Amino acid sequence: MVNNKGLLIVISGPSAVGKGTICKELVKRGIDNLELSVSATTRRPRQGEIDGINYYFKEKEVFEKMIEREDFLEFARVYDNYYGTPKKNVMDKISNGKDVILEIDIQGAKQVKRNYEDGIFIFIMPPSFKELKSRIVKRGTETQKDMDKRMTCAFEEVQQAKYYDYIVVNDDLNSAVEKIYCIIKAEKCRLSRY
Ligand code: 5GP
Repeated sequence: MVNNKGLLIVISGPSAVGKGTICKELVKRGIDNLELSVSATTRRPRQGEIDGINYYFKEKEVFEKMIEREDFLEFARVYDNYYGTPKKNVMDKISNGKDVILEIDIQGAKQVKRNYEDGIFIFIMPPSFKELKSRIVKRGTETQKDMDKRMTCAFEEVQQAKYYDYIVVNDDLNSAVEKIYCIIKAEKCRLSRY
């Protein structure tokens, strides 16, 4: 018999590669049971971001208390802020048969890989660095200094793609979403799930 646990799907990739849009689109297209994990962060909300929907926005002291209490499945410092995945939310959903997507950075993905061996790890690759830079500029949410920092990180991050199970190039939103959809469907048929 198939086991009824949901899948834990980890999606990473450089800033502005389109991970957020891909993840939202996957949920919107309604692969049954798929939910997006909401992370906690100490970063300030961007315009239009809502607490509890985009992130749980926390003060640094509160976040550090959560670390002490071991509330996180993983956490990392990314661009001078903390980001972390609340453990209980995710584990409850998986036990209840929901598939959960974590959109997290590489440091976090490595922690999940150590702590949860059944995870599925997908790296979203930009079609080129030139395209990535233009997406960061177009988004217009970062200062010049932050944009430079994110580009420098991007060069390092793509070197880490080899630690993932799958690489999906985001040259076209529809085809990237379609590929991930197929990966999820295939993972559900894995022999180890029976
Ligand atoms: P942003 O500030 O653009 O929303 O996110 C910055 C980076 O933090 C992105 O690479 C994003 O994937 C990562 N991130 C978001 N949430 C988490 C999390 O819970 N844990 C970790 N490790 N990284 C996260």
